[in-house]
Amino acid sequence: MTEKILVVEDEIPLQETLAYNLKRQGYDVQTCGDGSAALEEARTFAPDLILLDVMLPGLDGFELCRILRQEMNTPVLMLTARDDEIDRVVGLEVGADDYMTKPFSMRELLARVKAMLRRVRMMREEARKTAEAQPETSLAQLLTFGNLVLDMGRREVRINDQVLAFKPKEYELLLFLAQHRGQVLTREFILERLWGWNFIGDSRTVDVHIRWLREKIEANPAIPSRIITVRGAGYRFDG
Ligand code: CA
Repeated sequence: MTEKILVVEDEIPLQETLAYNLKRQGYDVQTCGDGSAALEEARTFAPDLILLDVMLPGLDGFELCRILRQEMNTPVLMLTARDDEIDRVVGLEVGADDYMTKPFSMRELLARVKAMLRRVRMMREEARKTAEAQPETSLAQLLTFGNLVLDMGRREVRINDQVLAFKPKEYELLLFLAQHRGQVLTREFILERLWGWNFIGDSRTVDVHIRWLREKIEANPAIPSRIITVRGAGYRFDG
């Protein structure tokens, strides 16, 4: 099956270079130079991955990413031009899965794209296997920690039977922690497994997501009892 990539970039030479190189790798590529049009394109084209420039006419990349996150799980690789944009990509609730700073090497970008798509395939495969193994909603799809329930069938998190608003990445992170309950996980390990960065990337990304999780699931986020910081090591989910 040909994987579909939507390239949202208003610098036409770069847009064309990206499209050309991605098509050469065998991907089905659509391009767009305007944020508002890109939103429509994402809905109709249903891409497997979106390359998203930050500065765009119409909607900017941040706004667009935020809207996309409400609607779909499609991974987003943001293309940033300035350092201060990186802070927003990883630090605020934009929800991008990865970013690259311009100028980037095409080789590095293609490697990143390939890695992100491989993760999408693996996650789909796992979801399919889970669905096959558990054709009906059953207790096996629930992870329960006191009043906290992760419902893997519905990809939902509940506390006292109230469904919490979770972004896809937050859900993945909590599920990952819960599946490794009692183990200390380093930031680098979490980054690599959930974001797929093969460099010691910005561990702030992990810290920020942990903070969001704590605000949602801890009785007192300042004194966490579920997600424990292990000094000099990483994080441990205690349940
Ligand atoms: Ca731009």
